[in-house]
Amino acid sequence: MNNININNNNNNITKKNINKNNNHKKYYDVLIVGCGPNGALLANFLGEMGIKTLVVECAKTFTQVPRAAHLDDEGLRILKRIGLDEEILKQSFQLDVKFNKTFCSGNLTSIKPENTELNFPRSIFWFQPKFEETIRNGFLERYSNCVDLITDCRVVSIEKEKFNIDDGDNQDEENQIKLNNIKIENLTTGEISNLKSKIIIGADGGNSFIRKSIASKMEGSSSKQRWLVVDAKIDKDHPPLPHYFQFICNPSRPALTLPIPPNHYRWEFLINENEKSEEMEKPEILNPLLQSHGADISKLEIIRKACYVFQNRIADNWYNGDTTLLIGDACHLVPPFLGMGISSGFRDVQNIAWKIELFLKGVISNHQTLFSSYQIERQPNIENITEKATHAGEMIMITNRYKAFLRNLLLSTLLSFPSIEKLFHNKAGMKPPNIIKHGLIDSTSSLTTLQSNTFKINIIGQSIPQPFVKLINKQIKQQSNEILLDEVLGNGFSCLFFNFNKNDKNCEFNKLVSKIISNQVFKILKTNFIQVIGNNQKYSKLFTKSSSSSLSSSLSIILDDSKESLFKFIFNNNNSNNQTLEPTIVIIRPDKFIFGVYQNVNLKSSKIISSITSILNINYNYAFNYDNINFTNNNNNNTTGGSASESENSFNSHVHSGNSLGDISGDDNNSDILEEFN
Ligand SMILES: Cc1cc2nc3c(=O)[nH]c(=O)nc-3n(C[C@H](O)[C@H](O)[C@H](O)COP(=O)(O)OP(=O)(O)OC[C@H]3O[C@@H](n4cnc5c(N)ncnc54)[C@H](O)[C@@H]3O)c2cc1C
Repeated sequence: MNNININNNNNNITKKNINKNNNHKKYYDVLIVGCGPNGALLANFLGEMGIKTLVVECAKTFTQVPRAAHLDDEGLRILKRIGLDEEILKQSFQLDVKFNKTFCSGNLTSIKPENTELNFPRSIFWFQPKFEETIRNGFLERYSNCVDLITDCRVVSIEKEKFNIDDGDNQDEENQIKLNNIKIENLTTGEISNLKSKIIIGADGGNSFIRKSIASKMEGSSSKQRWLVVDAKIDKDHPPLPHYFQFICNPSRPALTLPIPPNHYRWEFLINENEKSEEMEKPEILNPLLQSHGADISKLEIIRKACYVFQNRIADNWYNGDTTLLIGDACHLVPPFLGMGISSGFRDVQNIAWKIELFLKGVISNHQTLFSSYQIERQPNIENITEKATHAGEMIMITNRYKAFLRNLLLSTLLSFPSIEKLFHNKAGMKPPNIIKHGLIDSTSSLTTLQSNTFKINIIGQSIPQPFVKLINKQIKQQSNEILLDEVLGNGFSCLFFNFNKNDKNCEFNKLVSKIISNQVFKILKTNFIQVIGNNQKYSKLFTKSSSSSLSSSLSIILDDSKESLFKFIFNNNNSNNQTLEPTIVIIRPDKFIFGVYQNVNLKSSKIISSITSILNINYNYAFNYDNINFTNNNNNNTTGGSASESENSFNSHVHSGNSLGDISGDDNNSDILEEFN
């Protein structure tokens, strides 16, 4: 048994960064209601994008008790996107997860917290007050130029403005929206203030006011099982407690225990049918229960004890069809057994943030299609998580001794098969894969060679892994140290070129590459272009000086030679040196999901560009006038990226008249040559 790691981290909660005057401006692009983990995370994304945002929180400060405690590798990748991964990792425990028959004995199986294909630990555990403080400070300290927070306030009413936003010379009638008029009440003074916002995000938790305001209903059920949850602060001289997460599959009292940083411990016990919830919290019942699970009552301080019924509920509408959306607990409450509550909300934020940015920039001509895709893409994943978590809970909560015996026998028999053991212990075995089946992806793109001997693997809609890659210095043919793929992909769309190698002296490919990288659609999506080279693969440099001069985005060449390589993922091929692989273009969305894979008959610039244009509903006016807009905005300081104070009383004017400076058809004849590189 390992000792709990008690350290002297100062865990004081400060209010240093909360908007001192608690004032807000009159106009915002986005209003986020609720500053829990998900609202605060979205505020970081929008702040990084330079979007004028107000966060309204009804509590005076963030939660003071530990609630959720777990985040997965995908959650860490999302935190990396806004530069908070390292800080969260520093304050977290990486724990083995053990399934034991009784407290600390009779191990059935264990899962190690090793790194996954995202190059982050599978699981981390943290203290929610500190976790929330870090995420909240993330936007308060870095994005105070465009994100405001007011606390001790709540939204009391929302009304639609009668007229569309007067967006100057906005030529795109279809995409015009009406503003939301919002009344905010200060909960201490009772004062009411008014503001206007284009978009409203309900991040206001399970009892969401915003959800009710859009008449969305939570559907689902509550678990019949009741649980007693106890959180305690552990004294330094407390006898050692197990430093791992433990499911105790004991039929007479299913339970779980875990250490929470820096010096807390959690116990959760199933309340049996013949027990009364209110009795369970009494010391005469609670203390012996804790003592039989390692606790020395005289050397700990209980900070939370509560009886819970776990919820399994999903809102019927996460989007009101106009400009109001729900995220996190406001639209789904998942059973806790896979620890996916916070991770699910983080995925919502990752999914919606780039769509909000495209809409506010005027890049997209139909915001309803864009925002509707959010629930279409996210809900199936929530349903899968709910189903798997429910099954996991049922397995852990078996209270019949014979059934428990059979479960243990079945588990140990199954896990004696190496392939099943691998499946159980790898990422997909514990939680359902996060795949987009319908939504803003190009399902028609080619998969013809993307198959193993036995079955096809559809990688469209999957999240791309994050191997370490080496950036090849274009000028001096040198390789940099290893960096994580996301650092090359960047925050917008990215376009990966595979197998455009030295032997392809095919002029058609030259034209194709040239058409893609000079195309207006990729330009307005701020696409990063990346040539991917396999280990020892001979290649020609795709990007020339002339192609880079007309681009604001970056052109990179990366060497993909790690064990879990991109080649292996895309082509289901262990040999990244395989010269016979087809030239392939892979388009990645800003949330790192694969939009489309193009090869063979689909490897045509017209096909790729028309797919992106139609699926995303690219605004033609914006695309044709993009260069002009950039020029105008640079002069006026009036972009979505401008600070809130600079343009406090006016909304961003997105589309300006001007000459057509580009072609979004993909049929131009501009051709660069492939440069010899090695
Ligand atoms: C009491 C409780 C105990 C929990 N225990 C556990 C646990 O043991 N393990 C686990 O995995 N998960 C637990 N959870 C769930 C976990 O905390 C949530 O999944 C997670 O916090 C969801 O984050 P969120 O940002 O979506 O919502 P929340 O964390 O609920 O944040 C919503 C925020 O909105 C604010 N708000 C609400 N209404 C308004 C309004 N009208 N105007 C302005 N602000 C508003 C709230 O004050 C809050 O700060 C618990 C949740 C609760 C409520």
